[in-house]
Amino acid sequence: MALDSACLFCRIILGEIPADIVLRNDNVVAFNDINPQAPTHVLIVPRLHVENAGELAQISPSITADLFNAAAEIAAQRALSGHRAVFNTGADAGQSVFHAHLHLLGGRALAWPPG
Ligand code: AMP
Ligand code: ZN
Repeated sequence: MALDSACLFCRIILGEIPADIVLRNDNVVAFNDINPQAPTHVLIVPRLHVENAGELAQISPSITADLFNAAAEIAAQRALSGHRAVFNTGADAGQSVFHAHLHLLGGRALAWPPG
């Protein structure tokens, strides 16, 4: 649960790896995705190392809510006409970084269902 020096997103939180930070507060850090899939593609991460959203929800429902609140705040700041907030859980769902993160996507029409 403590930050893990071997984890990419923990290292971003610690400032050891640069990122384009768009929001930070006591519980979450948000930064632009390095490989954006939409004009807005922000990753919102908890300031604690948990593998996925389910673990985070068990450990801290309130920090889970903080991630969604940060997504809503960024979407409102940018006056997005619509947005998608999604957690990928497990490699088959496309998860590649095993520190829970909420993707915020917007700024273009988003197809459904996702691939
Ligand atoms: P996921 O595939 O759901 O685990 O999402 C991981 C995301 O992290 C991908 O969208 C990557 O493009 C993004 N990513 C990987 N490395 C970095 C980095 N150094 N800075 C910002 N985003 C990154
Ligand atoms: Zn981590």
